[in-house]
Amino acid sequence: MSQDRWQRRIERAEELRHQHSFAAEILGFYVRIAQFQKQLYQRLESASAASSNSANALTGPPELPELVASFPEFLAVVEQQAPARLAEYARTLRSIPEDDRTALLNDFWNGTAVPDGTGMNEFPARAFLQPYAEFVRLRSGMQWDGYTHSSCPFCNRKPGLGVLRQLGDGGQRSLICSFCLAEWQFRRILCPACGEENHAKLPVYTAHELQHVRVECCDSCKSYLKTVDLTRNGLAEPVIDEMAAVPLDLWAQEHGYAKLQANLLQM
Ligand SMILES: [Zn+2]
Ligand SMILES: [Zn+2]
Repeated sequence: MSQDRWQRRIERAEELRHQHSFAAEILGFYVRIAQFQKQLYQRLESASAASSNSANALTGPPELPELVASFPEFLAVVEQQAPARLAEYARTLRSIPEDDRTALLNDFWNGTAVPDGTGMNEFPARAFLQPYAEFVRLRSGMQWDGYTHSSCPFCNRKPGLGVLRQLGDGGQRSLICSFCLAEWQFRRILCPACGEENHAKLPVYTAHELQHVRVECCDSCKSYLKTVDLTRNGLAEPVIDEMAAVPLDLWAQEHGYAKLQANLLQM
């Protein structure tokens, strides 16, 4: 099941990369990252299964040694595949002492990392830890029926996108966490950034070429997020379709809106 989830993301990215020239480059990079994430996820599952069969006393989560040891390998992938500046940053991280790399992961995990404004310094830890966050979340089996807040019920991060799923004659909106990818229901006419509920202040825009991706804006706090409308395109893979819809981000930003939370590729 877990493998299917990663495979679906990779396949959808491959599909959209060939459909949309504007997203070809970023999705090509994403595919390389997602292939690594998929392998890492499989290794975490194996490490977890192996530890539950052993009688050894453990300190901390059983997958942790596997996780920390895999980071340089991930940085090597980034170094080979990323745009120049990010590649150089990955190379630098590979050469610093292991304790410093571990501290970087810890800071991101704990939400205490200080962003540098470009998001570049967040990318390695975030992309690398994402499979682990999803793994831990799924293992927890946590349910959040009735949860109404705008931050993730599992890891408390901001939502990265919305999804509309068919419900009766309309669409029910959920939000998807920008880190652990948890999904929870959220009222449709409500700004997740400031709580604005006035319909007139929450305009929604779509573009002709990307009709299943909505730009949901708030004129009170000038934030926006993109929502993937599965009632219009059931083949969409929300996280990937959000990422691919680059022109909508450019449009929103030109019109004075700031994204609630940048996606994995810092768009
Ligand atoms: Zn989360
Ligand atoms: Zn708002």
